[in-house]
Amino acid sequence: MSDLSIDIKITKISESKISTVDFDNLTFGKIFTDHMFVCDYIDGTWQTPEIMPYQPLTIDPSARVFHYGQAVFEGMKAFKDENDQIWMFRPEDNFNRINKSSHRMAIPEFPKEFFFEGLTKLLHMEKDWIQKGKGNSLYIRPFVIATEAAISASPSNSYKFMIICSPAQSYYAGEVKVLFAEEFSRAADGGVGYAKAAGNYGAQFYPTSLAHAKGYQQIIWTDANTHEYLEEAGTMNIFFRVGDTLLTAPNNDRILDGITRKSVIQLAKDNGIEVEVRRVRVDEIKEAAKNGTLKEIFGAGTAAVINPIAGFEHAGDEFDLPKMEDSYASFFKQKLMDIQYNVSEDPHGWRFKV
Ligand SMILES: *Cc1c(COP(=O)(O)O)cnc(C)c1O
Repeated sequence: MSDLSIDIKITKISESKISTVDFDNLTFGKIFTDHMFVCDYIDGTWQTPEIMPYQPLTIDPSARVFHYGQAVFEGMKAFKDENDQIWMFRPEDNFNRINKSSHRMAIPEFPKEFFFEGLTKLLHMEKDWIQKGKGNSLYIRPFVIATEAAISASPSNSYKFMIICSPAQSYYAGEVKVLFAEEFSRAADGGVGYAKAAGNYGAQFYPTSLAHAKGYQQIIWTDANTHEYLEEAGTMNIFFRVGDTLLTAPNNDRILDGITRKSVIQLAKDNGIEVEVRRVRVDEIKEAAKNGTLKEIFGAGTAAVINPIAGFEHAGDEFDLPKMEDSYASFFKQKLMDIQYNVSEDPHGWRFKV
């Protein structure tokens, strides 16, 4: 894709700040690379894609993004293999999804050539920021904001599409315990749950802070109508292993169509693990925890890849999950990372050479 002839104006920084970064002690999402990609939507078209030094923006206080949250984002990663080749994992799916999110938020779709040309050029410029070694990656955050200076409650006439990048390490989050939601909801039928729309995340901060205060790191959201069915976590889809069968909720307009989720489902099928994609009742998971058939719960998403869950609470009932020797969680994490870091075969063509 890198030989497409799109003119991207490039302004380089005079001196990289990379020597000031301690790559062995990174906090997720705090440090950003030297450059960023920016493209504005003005007069009905996306124009003048540009890579420039990472810097603050000047935006009018009346810009609609500040008042109505007209904003969407994506999360993806770049990896470096032992031969210094850079790879991404299924980035076309992220591209398609940001436009699906944009569509729902009445934001104009971003052109594919701009996306991939901007992304690859930026990654080539920032290649030293991608560290080799398993667990190291460059977290990539494309996003779109409504910039028009006008506070009438209607879609903006101008937008900014940007890509910023932050070096990331794998880290051990400690034991993750979760609360099954009984009162609050993340998404409703006909709403924007399936979109990576900014407001979906801001709306979770308060209920999640209540969960923290009770000693739970995350909430597993249930369906807004009955709170009887388990849907997903804040930024991860969720899997349950009952016996040797994997259960996960089907996608719908409340659930984010995760790329890690669908990759896990495919890998399960490839490896003879039975998967049931169907609605999962809170009651059946509690029952399985009581009778010992619930073996694992894990989250799946780009940031943590696979995040094992150690226990959960619902309606005052607390459950601890057993420690597994051969967990599905570590099996899938290994399989996914071997593909991402170009260590194993890639039978489904998920790797993308940058
Ligand atoms: C981003 C996200 C996921 C995970 O999607 P991936 O494509 O696997 O990174 C799951 N749920 C929600 C709510 C998300 O925002």
